[in-house]
Amino acid sequence: MNPPADCRRCGVCCFSESAEYVWVRGDDWSRLGAEAERLAHFIGNHAFMRMRDGHCTALDVRRDAAGGAEFFCTIYENRPEICRDLGRGSPECLGELETKAAQVAAKFPSREV
Ligand code: SF4
Ligand code: SF4
Repeated sequence: MNPPADCRRCGVCCFSESAEYVWVRGDDWSRLGAEAERLAHFIGNHAFMRMRDGHCTALDVRRDAAGGAEFFCTIYENRPEICRDLGRGSPECLGELETKAAQVAAKFPSREV
């Protein structure tokens, strides 16, 4: 599967049913600043981004004029390192698409890929 030209039309790597999906390490937590407690929490000894409706709580899903879904990271400049490392078109990105694209497309049928 080829990655879409624009991550805003995809958002797949921000989705997961797991509560322990987006790791938040010490530097990540500091970068979140005053928003850290709202956006992230500890599960055992590790911190993770909070999840809501099957995706990271920092993800905002909007509709364009044509009704197509657009996916925005609301903390893009301060997102955790693990998100920064997952480049569009990387093996990790392609793995995400392979395992979850259909699931996300089912939730957002007008999504373009
Ligand atoms: S990095 Fe890959 S999986 Fe994530 S939004 Fe971009 S194209 Fe989609
Ligand atoms: S922090 Fe941003 S890029 Fe990372 S999973 Fe959440 S919404 Fe996606």
